[in-house]
Amino acid sequence: MAEITLKGLAHSYEKAPSGAADYAIRQMNHVWHQGGAYALLGPSGCGKSTLLNIISGLLEPSEGDVLFDGHRVNELPPEERNIAQVFQFPVIYDTMTVFDNLAFPLRNMNTPEYRVKPKVLEVADILELTPLLKRKAKNLTADEKQKVSMGRGLVRDDVTAILFDEPLTVIDPQLKWKLRRKLKEIHERFNITMIYVTHDQLEASTFADKIAVMYEGQVVQFGTPRELFERPAHTFVGYFIGSPGMNFMAVEHTDGQVMFGAQPLPVSEKLKIAVANARSSDVSAPNIKLGIRPEFISITNTPDSHSMPVQVISVQDLGTYSLLTFKLNEQTFKARLPEGHPPLKETAFARFDDAKVALYIDEYLVEAGHE
Ligand code: ADP
Ligand code: MG
Repeated sequence: MAEITLKGLAHSYEKAPSGAADYAIRQMNHVWHQGGAYALLGPSGCGKSTLLNIISGLLEPSEGDVLFDGHRVNELPPEERNIAQVFQFPVIYDTMTVFDNLAFPLRNMNTPEYRVKPKVLEVADILELTPLLKRKAKNLTADEKQKVSMGRGLVRDDVTAILFDEPLTVIDPQLKWKLRRKLKEIHERFNITMIYVTHDQLEASTFADKIAVMYEGQVVQFGTPRELFERPAHTFVGYFIGSPGMNFMAVEHTDGQVMFGAQPLPVSEKLKIAVANARSSDVSAPNIKLGIRPEFISITNTPDSHSMPVQVISVQDLGTYSLLTFKLNEQTFKARLPEGHPPLKETAFARFDDAKVALYIDEYLVEAGHE
């Protein structure tokens, strides 16, 4: 068991990296506390597998340190780190039985046979592999093979952490849901640090207490699913979390107004001041944006002092709510309409909930909405 700290970590697959774009991991400082159930969430190619491989020791980082309980482990090979890793595709011995596959990590550490058996049976039971224990692994289905592969990650209870790299990719959707719940159960039972990599926000939030959102080689936010929804620290989090994601508007402060192109935005006095004082690092093309989630835009057929005329494009009925697509200042927006919302005319009126509009400078949150 250990706390895993990443200190000034960076990794490039290039021999002579020349700029940020050459780094798969860019200057990362992060702590995974002992016993946590974590998800590492981000789009394909953002560096998730690279990061896991650095933690497990399959890959040596080009810069920075990996610390277990404060001790540097950069040079320790994987087998000395006491970490179990489950990969996207099954890693099993085809000619061995399921039992022997599950027993392998224990026997490999010279665990006495009388302790191997109960542990294998316990893990087989959790993963519903008991009827298959005597079968040769090569005769299993893809799902079953991956379950064995996961079981191999779970048999040792002396591990510091278990890292899962998109382990359910090859598993069918129903079983996926079941296995995710099992993993959560196992986490609660054994109190082992688990880091679960996925590109699926639903998968991340059903498994993890805290999610690290990764984007272009950096953790841009580490928080509970609720924090990621309510207070996205980076525009990417706003866009990636939620369905659909946050709406963003590039704005500037002119003549005492917050302007979104030619459209003045009715925002709170506090936000108006924040926009007036906003300084982007790019002076020639300042990167200043307001964000509002589709859930916090209300739409009516008649105007009021705080609303703006918008062009209705489409309304999609999704059962418990509808999703409206509209245009404002030539840009497409999404808004959620509650069930039973009256039909909308071609021109409707949108109102942003003042308390939910957030300000982003250079893509990072500066001023969040307030309750
Ligand atoms: P993810 O797991 O989030 O999809 P990866 O960690 O696999 O992302 O990849 C991060 C970046 O590093 C990508 O741009 C990928 O092309 C690159 N990369 C990954 N593995 C290698 C490798 N062995 N050699 C060179 N580049 C790699
Ligand atoms: Mg990957």
